[in-house]
Amino acid sequence: MTTDIDLSIAQVITCTEAEGPGRRFAIWFQGCPLRCPGCCNPEFIPFDGGERIGVQKMTEWIFQTQEQQAIEGITLLGGEPFAHTRSALALVRKVRERNLSVMIFTGYTLEQLQQRPEPDVVELLGFTDILVDGPYIRELPETGRRWIGSRNQQIHFLSSRYRFDETWRQRNTLEIRMDHGTITINGFPAAAAAGLWRGWKRKKPLPQVPTVD
Ligand code: SF4
Repeated sequence: MTTDIDLSIAQVITCTEAEGPGRRFAIWFQGCPLRCPGCCNPEFIPFDGGERIGVQKMTEWIFQTQEQQAIEGITLLGGEPFAHTRSALALVRKVRERNLSVMIFTGYTLEQLQQRPEPDVVELLGFTDILVDGPYIRELPETGRRWIGSRNQQIHFLSSRYRFDETWRQRNTLEIRMDHGTITINGFPAAAAAGLWRGWKRKKPLPQVPTVD
């Protein structure tokens, strides 16, 4: 019998084009130890809060979305995915079985991660196609690279699946969703910080996890 592992989740958007190439299933972890000034998701910093979802349930949700909306991969964001390495790795191992790509935004640098000896960190990097590293810095908003928040952040293509092409040079993307009175905003943080949601009450409940037969 295998034991399921819980993911600590702040937010899920099942199909977005604002968090990496193509259509992607985006998962924001709840909890980040880095506490950068000007963090774009300060409500995702505390490790308490969020919701717990088992890896098995999340995997079924992702596969169901793949069949219905033709997503090409998942994107992990934070919070800090590498503060949740064990559960993130368990999920990524599963989604790789369906050839979904993996993109991760991390506040650590790649060099810092490569210096960490934990086998789970090494394995998670091994499953990652695109790593965007470094914290979001509000004073350095990115204007030339789509999907990237600030100019200090580097894009590392850790597999041959993607490369830096013209799609990365398009304008940055912000998505705004309204669903049953709840507003969710994701994508380019500088646009959001400029006041696009000023006056709105920002709520980010998880969508209801669908039942999988
Ligand atoms: S690493 Fe990212 S989520 Fe964590 S505090 Fe810094 S900006 Fe916020």
